[in-house]
Amino acid sequence: MDDAYSREIDYLRISITDRCNLRCLYCMPEEGVSRMGHSDILRYEEIVEIVEAGVASGIRKIRITGGEPLVRPGVVQFVGMLKNIRGVEELSITTNAVMLPELAGPLADAGLDRVNVSLDTLDPVNFSRITRVGRIEKVFEGINAAVVNGLGPVKINSVVIRGFNDHEVSNLSEWALSNEYNLRFIEYMPISNGFFSFAENYISSDEIKEIVLDRFPELKECSRAGNGPARYLCRADQKGSIGFIEAVSHAFCSNCNRLRLTADGKLKPCLFSNDETDLVPVLRNRDGDVRGGLIRLFRNTVLMKPESHEDFQRVNADSRCMNEIGG
Ligand code: SAM
Ligand code: SF4
Repeated sequence: MDDAYSREIDYLRISITDRCNLRCLYCMPEEGVSRMGHSDILRYEEIVEIVEAGVASGIRKIRITGGEPLVRPGVVQFVGMLKNIRGVEELSITTNAVMLPELAGPLADAGLDRVNVSLDTLDPVNFSRITRVGRIEKVFEGINAAVVNGLGPVKINSVVIRGFNDHEVSNLSEWALSNEYNLRFIEYMPISNGFFSFAENYISSDEIKEIVLDRFPELKECSRAGNGPARYLCRADQKGSIGFIEAVSHAFCSNCNRLRLTADGKLKPCLFSNDETDLVPVLRNRDGDVRGGLIRLFRNTVLMKPESHEDFQRVNADSRCMNEIGG
């Protein structure tokens, strides 16, 4: 399915809940109250109908996200439901890993291909500060459980915030390379009116890359197949890598291949825009042609994709927080 700028859109990120067991400073407000009522949240069967229409429109890769997707009851069965849809070629989850120690095995058995784990620090004290409530030991256990259960190669996502964890860039890189993980540093994005000031706390991927190369001058630019819009550095043996997701400093919109579905049934053409298509009226109108209607809405939303998000100041007080969009 091509958009108006000839980009092929084959990737759907599905947020299945806006709730979370952590409260990361850059993502959610401290009180973390869910803005979505129970009846607003799509049932798993409804998401499956949407995915089927998406696959009929060209979607091939699915990522389940949140909030924290593993806190929603039934997520293992949901993975099995998605895995059974013909045409879904890749199924992954982005998680904070806190519940992976118990769920990695069942998720792998249900057909999950891979996990991405978000971890911004190796320091237990800094972890509790950034997440407000979390204990880091569970995350390390969760990563191990993912590896043991074949959910690799594990990708680790670290948002870098000046003054909070930029001093850990070097240690995080060392840890990732020695464990052969693919670590991606993510630029802090001004998505919501959050805790941080963009002017003071944003740090560009160029600056982060300099810190990494200072410590590991032997790293060379490399590619990582199927890894979307990140630039990568690897060692000669290609084991482990350090990537940079530079959504702010280097708009990678020309390679954008994705749509996002929120837990309350809105299809978003662009992370940095407040535009969205409400799928619910068509989905819940059982007298109509639900599948045909959803396919039309997929096509319309793809055509709404902007050429670039350079205009991201449109993300404002009315915008959803990241836990409502899924990253
Ligand atoms: N709870 C899961 C997790 O943390 O992996 C999935 C949802 S979370 C919203 C998805 C990703 O968005 C995480 O990697 C998180 O670090 C990232 N994220 C959240 N807020 C962000 C922000 N303001 N800027 C950049 N990345 C952000
Ligand atoms: Fe929760 Fe993920 Fe947001 Fe952290 S980044 S608060 S783990 S949804």
